[in-house]
Amino acid sequence: LEFLAQTDRAIAEIIQLELQRQRDHLELIASENFTSAAVLAAQGSVLTNKYAEGLPKKRYYGGCELIDRAEQLAIDRAKQLFGAEMANVQPHSGAQANFAVFLALLKPGDTIMGMDLSHGGHLTHGSPVNVSGKWFNVVHYTVNKDTERLDYDQILELARKERPKLIICGYSAYSRTIDFAKFREIADEVGAYLLADIAHIAGLVVTGHHPNPIPHCDVVTTTTHKTLRGPRGGLILTRDPELGKKLNKAVFPGTQGGPLEHVVAAKAVAFGEALKPEFKTYCAHVIANAQTLAKRLVERGFKIISGGTDNHLMLVDLRPANMTGKTAERLLGEIQVTTNKNTIPFDPESPFVTSGLRLGSPAMTTRGMGEAEFSEIGNIIADRLFSPEDGAIAPDCLNRVAQLRDRFPLYPHLNIPLPA
Ligand code: PLP
Repeated sequence: LEFLAQTDRAIAEIIQLELQRQRDHLELIASENFTSAAVLAAQGSVLTNKYAEGLPKKRYYGGCELIDRAEQLAIDRAKQLFGAEMANVQPHSGAQANFAVFLALLKPGDTIMGMDLSHGGHLTHGSPVNVSGKWFNVVHYTVNKDTERLDYDQILELARKERPKLIICGYSAYSRTIDFAKFREIADEVGAYLLADIAHIAGLVVTGHHPNPIPHCDVVTTTTHKTLRGPRGGLILTRDPELGKKLNKAVFPGTQGGPLEHVVAAKAVAFGEALKPEFKTYCAHVIANAQTLAKRLVERGFKIISGGTDNHLMLVDLRPANMTGKTAERLLGEIQVTTNKNTIPFDPESPFVTSGLRLGSPAMTTRGMGEAEFSEIGNIIADRLFSPEDGAIAPDCLNRVAQLRDRFPLYPHLNIPLPA
């Protein structure tokens, strides 16, 4: 970073300011986390210079002997972590991982079935603006209106009617445990492939805090940067070696070119970290902290969709505060609490406005915060959102945010000295 500051002050300054922003704010975006300094080091390494199309020991370029060792370590650790037979560590992102799965399993015009985006699904699960929605015939299931949870009977009924070739489970904004065995029964009954996209809960899965989809699903995809706390990227897993070969081809040459081997090495570092007992403790704290935050918000008068959380995130229904997600996100941003507005199931507002807020505990748990701090975060959020017109509240909340975050330094050894 010192070199960067000497040669490109503009970018160095942006990185320095972003580091400061990350240090100053309470990061509650459920899909974000802070990687270790070791992950940052691997990602910022000379491995970025190397072309390595293909797979370890089967490359289209010379000079890959060392890259092969890094990628093989990433593969082996991923397989061990998830209990899979095959792992492809090359997808550049979660969306790329899903795209490769579609290429491997489907033809344009096939029917796919995933959760509606406005109920917690992801864009890549059949949204009309995504390739998954443009190239496939999409049917969407929703959560149950009364329980706000997955309704397996309703999903089975829809699957029987629509006969999808692929069923997708796994979500971006669902706070309850997913029953992968139930999804397997449904997929088997209609002869569909089953894909679990565990982008959000991967860290909880590998530490045994959420059931593992590998034994039940044909394919599992995930991102590596959310609860798994690695570099930004994607991962594909399966227990079926034959399907594994198809998936490998679908990543390269199907949908990607040269892998980002610096990111692959950083994934290997993160998988190594996730195999350690400390990571299991971390994930236990992630869940306890999310549950504490949800409980405090309920005590303060908010409604949490489905009544609470089993994982790292929650959807807050803001209607009791007479507020939209858009306004809440802005008001909290002003007191340095970073969140994202989110539709809630059957939301009367548009996706640009929304009635909900998605909150998550992974990032601030990484900073070391525990249940006492998450309870205070709940109080800060409630104090601000229930008194939007009270001018004195904002400085008070800002002060409380500063007191909290200053006790939990972020990347204390990272520094970018800018030349005068
Ligand atoms: N799948 C799910 C369930 C997600 O929540 C996300 C990201 O939010 C993705 C896929 C896409 O990941 P990426 O942003 O890395 O493409």
